[in-house]
Amino acid sequence: MAPERLKAPRGTFDVLPADGERRRSLRTAAERLLGGAGYAAFESPVFEDTALFARGVGESTDIVSKEMFTFEDQGGRSLTLRPEGTAGACRAYIEHGMHKRPAPVKLSYWGPFFRHETPQAGRYRQFAQVGAEALGSDDPSLDAELVLLLAELLEQAGVAQLRLRLSSLGDAPTRAAYGEELRAHLRAREHELSDEVRARIDQNPLRAFDSDHPGTRAVMADAPLLVDRLGEADAEHFATVRALLDDAGLAYDLDPTLVRGLDYYTRTVFEFESAALGAQRGVGGGGRYDGLVAQLGGPPTPGVGWAAGIERILLAAAAAGGDEQPEAEPTVYVAVAKPEAARRAFGLARALRLGVDARVELEQAGRSLKGQLKHADRVGARAVVIVGETIEVKDMRSGEQRSARDEHELMRLVMGP
Ligand code: AMP
Repeated sequence: MAPERLKAPRGTFDVLPADGERRRSLRTAAERLLGGAGYAAFESPVFEDTALFARGVGESTDIVSKEMFTFEDQGGRSLTLRPEGTAGACRAYIEHGMHKRPAPVKLSYWGPFFRHETPQAGRYRQFAQVGAEALGSDDPSLDAELVLLLAELLEQAGVAQLRLRLSSLGDAPTRAAYGEELRAHLRAREHELSDEVRARIDQNPLRAFDSDHPGTRAVMADAPLLVDRLGEADAEHFATVRALLDDAGLAYDLDPTLVRGLDYYTRTVFEFESAALGAQRGVGGGGRYDGLVAQLGGPPTPGVGWAAGIERILLAAAAAGGDEQPEAEPTVYVAVAKPEAARRAFGLARALRLGVDARVELEQAGRSLKGQLKHADRVGARAVVIVGETIEVKDMRSGEQRSARDEHELMRLVMGP
């Protein structure tokens, strides 16, 4: 009996070549954009001590309480596949004494993240995020800069029907006082709330704004709003962020009900949505987290950042018709005219890869010469180098064929006029 065929685990996917090329070109664009604003490439491990997320992201959040891939290693330590990138970046900032570097320390990353969610379109158990963080300064221009960089990235990627939601959560004491006020409001109308919201009044009353339950929504329509309770410094900080976005001509909706699913945010929070997506419309979001580094045992350090989902960016761009392949690189095809020439052709392909600014492909599947020329056409080769007794270079556009006496002349002919 044939062995059973295995499949990729539920909620995961393989990136096949066409998608791989689109991801690569998005990554290149993101690196150019973020690098150009001083966000240096940063990487941290794909798994961390579970305690980092429990302390950093918050025990009561969905991410930590329900969605983490947690396992024990052979030494009995509890490890977790990272569900998000900010906690790891802050852990590394502390561990490597980055607070001694000139502020702000700007980092950017790209990589896989893991959440045990119910899979659906745009929601997976392993997904990729691009992200950026600025640590060590609470200057509101960093908040605005980061929002604008994400807007620029999404626009370059061709994400259509974008909407930016923006709010401010104030500082920790304001949030705490507001939390009490909101709890009192919820308790006064407890019987109207969904069971889930009622069960979490103490733990996380803010999440009630996220509820779809009609009774809860009615209660929330009359709820006090945090933006109306901001202290003077926080209100001023938020006003500056908004003024900078206004100057840049970026439209946004002030949304006092914006609640991000992570506990560490203070002051600015934002989220980009694309109406081109279905239920999972969040393409990227973030905010300021001025207490997180201290909470993880580091010196008091403000920070702000965002993360955006690669799969959702590409889905939203595809919905807007932006899923054509990135333009193919110029390609040179090295054909083998007779078997004895295979060794020479192999060496010439290597030399060409080092010498010319083009993709160089070599015949490696035993095709006839006719089949090779057909294949060269299929891969869009600009020139074919035919290696036999002689070395010929065929220009695929003009059909013209010329001999090269040596490697030097070969390079010249391949590169064309
Ligand atoms: P969050 O930190 O939860 O706001 O996530 C940031 C971005 O990552 C979201 O806006 C999504 O684009 C993406 N994302 C989060 N969770 C998933 C998931 N389970 N599958 C695919 N993308 C996700």
